[in-house]
Amino acid sequence: MSADRQTDVLIIGAGPVGLFAAFELGLFNMSCRLIDCLDRAGGQCTAFYADKPIYDVPGHPSIQAQELVNRLLLQIAPFKPQFSFDRTVAGIRRLEDRGFEVSTDRGELFEARLVVVASGGAIQPKGVAKGASPTEWGLELCDGVISVDAEKFETAVPGIFAIGDIASYPGKLRLLLSGFHEAALMAQAARRIVNPNQRLSVQYTTTSTSLQRKLGVAD
Ligand SMILES: Cc1cc2nc3c(=O)[nH]c(=O)nc-3n(C[C@H](O)[C@H](O)[C@H](O)COP(=O)(O)OP(=O)(O)OC[C@H]3O[C@@H](n4cnc5c(N)ncnc54)[C@H](O)[C@@H]3O)c2cc1C
Repeated sequence: MSADRQTDVLIIGAGPVGLFAAFELGLFNMSCRLIDCLDRAGGQCTAFYADKPIYDVPGHPSIQAQELVNRLLLQIAPFKPQFSFDRTVAGIRRLEDRGFEVSTDRGELFEARLVVVASGGAIQPKGVAKGASPTEWGLELCDGVISVDAEKFETAVPGIFAIGDIASYPGKLRLLLSGFHEAALMAQAARRIVNPNQRLSVQYTTTSTSLQRKLGVAD
């Protein structure tokens, strides 16, 4: 398989939570590809309420939904995530010792060490009724959502994570800030799998020169 079809983490859904997941994973040197059945990033924010103000994003007394998406795209740009739009994830197959093979409704195949399902729930993938739901990927749905543990956000299938509106655990709130928190904890768990020898310590973007170099804001 060509190198551009291989990635550390394949994220299903380029909504706000999938986008922020690419940031958190990027801080730990993991490459990402995001696949979305829509023709652009932003999920519900872009599709349902792009011009509406959001009032409960920390640090933003008010921010238009599309502006938030634009800022998320700017924030993840240093990590150069790959995007595949207008494609629905049709299948996920475990590969022996090598992670997962993910197929799309266009017949493309991608390989990833880990898969993150950030597919929301409110947007019905266009045109594809079969092979597009988490059930078809071997994941169990309960009331339309995937049960995860609230520490790692891993599903019942090791190596497949779920975050954002599609994920469920006791006390879950379908809010942006919950999805962003879930992305941060998922990334901690993911790096233990992808980079098991990496030293584990919490670093602040404010003070860590190493993180700032990754973000392109320090020499
Ligand atoms: C009108 C409205 C107002 C809201 N206001 C607020 C608010 O004020 N504050 C707040 O915190 N939250 C608000 N929300 C909720 C917030 O938008 C969601 O919690 C958030 O969008 C969830 O992000 P997500 O990335 O998990 O999912 P989504 O935004 O749903 O994105 C999921 C993406 O996955 C893609 N996808 C799905 N299945 C597949 C597949 N098989 N293959 C490829 N791609 C797939 C979809 O196309 C979509 O782009 C509001 C929601 C709505 C509808």
